[in-house]
Amino acid sequence: MGSILSNQESHGPKIVVVGAGFVGTTFAYSLLIHGLASQIVIIDVDRERAEGEVMDLNHGMPFAFPAKIWAGDYADCRDADIVVIAVDRGQKIVQSRLDLAEGNLQIFKQIVPDIAKYNRECILLVVSNPLDVMTYAALKLSGFPANRVIGSGTLLDTARLRYLLGEHLQVDPRNVHAYIIGEHGDSEVPVWSLANVAGIRLKDYCPICKVPYDTKAFNDLFLKVKNAGYEIIKRKGRTNYAVALSLTKIVESIIRDENAIVTVSCLLKNYHGVSDICLSVPVILNRTGVKEIITLPLDEKETADFQKSAAIIKKVTDSLNL
Ligand code: NAD
Repeated sequence: MGSILSNQESHGPKIVVVGAGFVGTTFAYSLLIHGLASQIVIIDVDRERAEGEVMDLNHGMPFAFPAKIWAGDYADCRDADIVVIAVDRGQKIVQSRLDLAEGNLQIFKQIVPDIAKYNRECILLVVSNPLDVMTYAALKLSGFPANRVIGSGTLLDTARLRYLLGEHLQVDPRNVHAYIIGEHGDSEVPVWSLANVAGIRLKDYCPICKVPYDTKAFNDLFLKVKNAGYEIIKRKGRTNYAVALSLTKIVESIIRDENAIVTVSCLLKNYHGVSDICLSVPVILNRTGVKEIITLPLDEKETADFQKSAAIIKKVTDSLNL
C-alpha cells in the first residue's frame, strides 16, 4: 500500500467512499466521529446527493475530529489508502441478495476500472451485495492482488451473533467469541464447535452463567442472525448502522496496522477444499490487507455446510463470466 506511511507525514489516511447511499454515508459519518481519516472523499453518480451529504457531514466537524471531506470524482482516488465500494442499482431484494448480482455487476464494470486507473496501490473494500460475488468481481475487474481486495462479508453477521449470544448469556458481546463464515447471506454457517466465552466452550460456560445449554435455542439465535437483514429491511427499508460500524472496524484494522482477526470475504485457495471464490473466513488484517487466512478446525457438519455455501456462491460467480 505504501501511502499510509507517507500520508502520516503529510495528511494522514485518505478514504474514498463510492456510493453516497445509506451505507456509504453512515460509514462516512462513523469515520468522522471516530477520527479515523484525515481525508474522506464521497463519489456518487448522483453528484448533488454526494454534495448534500458532504455539506451535512462537514457541519458536524466542530463536534468531531478535523478532516477534509469533499464530493469528488475518480481522480481523487489517486493517493487513497482504502476505497470503499457501497454502490447499488437500487433494485429491491426479491428473494435473496444473490438477485442483485447482474445489476450491480454492470455498475462495477464502470467504476472498478475507474478506481484502478488512478490508484493501483490501495485496498478495495466492497460492501455492495451480493457481497461475495461482488468482491470476486472487484478482484477480477481491478487485477489487484488478492490480499488487497476485501468484502465486509460476515463481520456483520458475526457481530449480530455475538450480540444475540451476549444477550442470551448475559455477558458483554465483546467477550463472546463466535464466528459466522461462508456467504454473507442465506447459506452462511455458524461455527458452534469453536464458540466460547472466556475461552470456555458454550457447553461448559452455560452452567457457569446458569443458562440451559439448549442447542435449539442457539439455532433459533442463528436463524435470527441469518434473517436479520430481511427483518430490518421489512421494518425500515434498509440496514446501515451496524454495517457501517463493521466497515469502520475493518478500516481501523488496516490503517492502524492492527493484525486484527475479522471475518471478511476474500479469495480462498483450498480452504477446506474451497478455491477460487471469495467467501468469509477469519483473517489477520493489517495495513497490507489480508496478511493471513486462518484455517478453522471445523467439525464435519460445519465443513459440509461451508462447502455447500461455497457451491452456491461459485454457481452465481461463474454465471457472471468474469
Ligand atoms: P442506496 O441505494 O442507499 O445507495 C446506493 C448508492 O449508489 C446511491 O447513492 C446511488 O446513486 C449510487 N450509485 C449507483 N450507481 C452508481 C454509479 N455507477 N457510480 C456511483 N454511484 C452509484 O443503497 P445502500 O442502502 O447504501 O446499500 C448499498 C449497498 O450495500 C447495497 O448493495 C446493499 O445491498 C449493500 N449492503 C451490504 C451490507 C453488507 O453487510 N455487506 C449491508 C447493508 C447493505
